Amino acid sequence: MFRAKFKEAVICFSNPRVTLPYPFGPGAELPEGFRGKITVDQTRCIACGGCANVCPSRLIRFYDEGERTRMEFILDRCTYCGRCAEVCPEHAITMTLEFENSTDHKEDLYIEQELYMATCARCGRCFETENAIDKIPVRRHREGRNFVGPSMPHGGPRARQRE
Ligand code: SF4
Ligand code: SF4
Repeated sequence: MFRAKFKEAVICFSNPRVTLPYPFGPGAELPEGFRGKITVDQTRCIACGGCANVCPSRLIRFYDEGERTRMEFILDRCTYCGRCAEVCPEHAITMTLEFENSTDHKEDLYIEQELYMATCARCGRCFETENAIDKIPVRRHREGRNFVGPSMPHGGPRARQRE
């Protein structure tokens, strides 16, 4: 017993240190492709729902509230799998390098965003997010139509009415 412990101590002291003094000193350099806390760029999101469909933790929720679509990300359930960022067609979700996510405040791990819906000029019904409509003239599908234009910050006429 004593000999085994002595042998173990010799092995421990004869090898270099393999742990880091983190959090009292610098941690390891993060590798390329590290998956930390997600961020969502509201100006890119078109509320397609792709991220919610693939999220294994089911932490992304959509609420259809008439003129707006509200999205919630409840990140205390996030497993940092990166699937949401992988499928997002608009590259609105980014996996940051942020890994120090322990907190006493739930709101630190909560993202909420509201996307306004463009409204049909004829029937008045909401039909698509303004972010998606904004992209149409850029892609040159409907350039010249009366309700979209490249210089409009938020798309259609309803956006102007709200301002
Ligand atoms: S974040 Fe991306 S995948 Fe999720 S709803 Fe927005 S555009 Fe779609
Ligand atoms: S990283 Fe994975 S678990 Fe976290 S929000 Fe994205 S899909 Fe869901």
